[in-house]
Amino acid sequence: MLDARSISAWFGDRKVLDRVSLDMPAGSVTALIGPSGCGKSTFLRILNRMHELVPGATLAGEVLLSGQDIYDASRKLTDARKQIGMVFQKPNPFPAMSIHDNVLAGLKLTGIRAGRSAKEALVEECLSKAGLWNEVKDRLRQPGGALSGGQQQRLCIARSLAVRPKVLLMDEPCSALDPTSTRRIEQTIAELAHEVTIIIVTHNMQQAARVSQQCAFFLAEQGTPGVIVESGPTKRIFEAPSDERTSDYVHGRF
Ligand code: ADP
Ligand code: MG
Repeated sequence: MLDARSISAWFGDRKVLDRVSLDMPAGSVTALIGPSGCGKSTFLRILNRMHELVPGATLAGEVLLSGQDIYDASRKLTDARKQIGMVFQKPNPFPAMSIHDNVLAGLKLTGIRAGRSAKEALVEECLSKAGLWNEVKDRLRQPGGALSGGQQQRLCIARSLAVRPKVLLMDEPCSALDPTSTRRIEQTIAELAHEVTIIIVTHNMQQAARVSQQCAFFLAEQGTPGVIVESGPTKRIFEAPSDERTSDYVHGRF
């Protein structure tokens, strides 16, 4: 589904990723793990064409979405964005906008048009998929900012689903949440994975083990740019990694 080939990235003249390749199959959850500063978020932003928005940031390599390079000069930025949703560490719904309108906000940004009844159906569908419908169906006109942190994050997931993306990128989506909210998001991820390809950055090894089928271990050693030390089926990365540094990291010896 999403295939990153030999991605290198720079901020100014500082190289932060060195020839990172990762194939992320359809209908699966891929976890990106590794210490802070090794380029996981940068890699995720490259998958969504957000890296190029940072002044002075450059990259090399290609990202294929269903076989097509999202960086192809003839493709519009919104083209990739429509197909690749993103959820961040800190829930960021539009706080003053209603829950209902938050879900639909992405449609306007990407230029998708829908009639009134289609929109209402979409709001229910996306909130249901994000596991939030039952909690908010009677208060859709209340502001997004009135929800709890965990609910706000599920609202952000619902918002990202409204454009029917093929891929959902999640950058430490549970780091700011309590354990109960975290479990609910993990449940949502498991359900969504049947229809959306998910890539999640997490510092929580139990979470990586619970939600992902594939895992990639990123590392940037002493001033060198980040690389993927190894990637593969999550079970193998955790139980029989081929590199000692992976074993040390997943067992908390870093
Ligand atoms: P991770 O998500 O694994 O913690 P990041 O991708 O955030 O790592 O960062 C990788 C490296 O790139 C770090 O050394 C970080 O300081 C640097 N970096 C990240 N964002 C920027 C930016 N906007 N400008 C300059 N350097 C950045
Ligand atoms: Mg990060």
